[in-house]
Amino acid sequence: MKKILKLKCVKCGAEYLENEVEYVCPQCGIEGILDVIYDYELISRELTKDYLLNNEDKNITRYLPILPIESAEYFEPLQVGNTPLYEVKKLRRLLELDNLYIKDDTRNPTLSFKDRASAVGIAKAKELKKDVIVASSTGNAASSISGFAASAGIKNYIFVPKTAPEAKVTQLLVFGSTVFLVDGTYDEAFELCFKAAERFGWYNRSCAINPYLVEGKKTVAFEILEQLNFKVPDYVVMAVGDGCSISGAYKGFVEFYKLGLVDKIPKMIGVQSEKSNPVTRAFNKNTYEFDYIPPTTIADSISVGIPRNGIKALKAVAESGGFMIDVTDEEIIESIRILASNSGIFGEPAGVTGFAGVRKLKKLGLFKKEDIVVTVVTGSGLKDLRTAQRAVPKAYRVSTNIDDLVELLKNI
Ligand SMILES: *Cc1c(COP(=O)(O)O)cnc(C)c1O
Ligand SMILES: [Zn+2]
Repeated sequence: MKKILKLKCVKCGAEYLENEVEYVCPQCGIEGILDVIYDYELISRELTKDYLLNNEDKNITRYLPILPIESAEYFEPLQVGNTPLYEVKKLRRLLELDNLYIKDDTRNPTLSFKDRASAVGIAKAKELKKDVIVASSTGNAASSISGFAASAGIKNYIFVPKTAPEAKVTQLLVFGSTVFLVDGTYDEAFELCFKAAERFGWYNRSCAINPYLVEGKKTVAFEILEQLNFKVPDYVVMAVGDGCSISGAYKGFVEFYKLGLVDKIPKMIGVQSEKSNPVTRAFNKNTYEFDYIPPTTIADSISVGIPRNGIKALKAVAESGGFMIDVTDEEIIESIRILASNSGIFGEPAGVTGFAGVRKLKKLGLFKKEDIVVTVVTGSGLKDLRTAQRAVPKAYRVSTNIDDLVELLKNI
């Protein structure tokens, strides 16, 4: 029984069998990203509510019937997903949103949402017996695949812009990757990695061209629906860089709908920094063309000039009845502090960009008090300390003398 029917080009609609193509649509080239189409009729017979309720697997393999991997044995033991969905009372009061939920995806093996994709990427590499995997990334996709490759013992080359935060580069090095700090932007690192992968026949982990990676990202939607007891949120708000994360999540919601497990799909709202907002601009102009403006946002994980999965992201947002919105870098920085100090969840700048969007949308009056709003914190604040430090006051210096402390406390 084959669960995957075909791979379908998002641009021209051409269809291929799984083993006919490796990455993108040969007719459309790099823009012809392929979408994995399953036999939902077949899958719906296995993947029922009962199946889920009785499933004790708490790792990403929980969703194996609807992942593009034949057997659970290809997955690494690293714990991916099953991250908490919090009801944070303080935040609900502060934002006047009675049904706000925070999905804490900082709690993945390498501390970001990207681990959902990497888990599937590595499993696919093993299934296809690839012995070298490569990635280009603003940082998290790289550190993520690097950790999984370490677990699997697969050789890997990583291309990141030389400006990538130190913590992410350090993760790469401790995981044992061969790291290239590219003297250029993420967009240029992507190009170099792409060319190198072609020339040397390496397996490319990029979510933007490898059809299987977003399949891991969709599991966030499955978890949210299970955690809400199959009640569908009104809105799901997520940061957008390349656009793989939001389109992956959207696919998950659509699939549970297709399987008859839920009766509607949430509105997907994508959030970008106004200093890196090609997807918002395209959405507002109602076009699939992305014009290039050099990205300058401090939120490095979404500092993307050419969104590699922009069309899918635009489709996810539009088809769900949602929209795109921008926040400022100042709003992102402030959101690091507001989220952390009210919930104990410490996100990196891109990690809290969805939350910054929620705050803005509430202020603009676009959410009703009772709306069910979910946002995903996509990366840990420990990955970029410098930006977080800009959001908070300095610590107090104090001598070892208790009397000095007493004096100091009078002024605090
Ligand atoms: C990659 C990333 C995003 C955005 O995902 P895209 O697929 O590029 O849109 C958001 N937050 C964090 C922390 C990320 O690493
Ligand atoms: Zn095509």
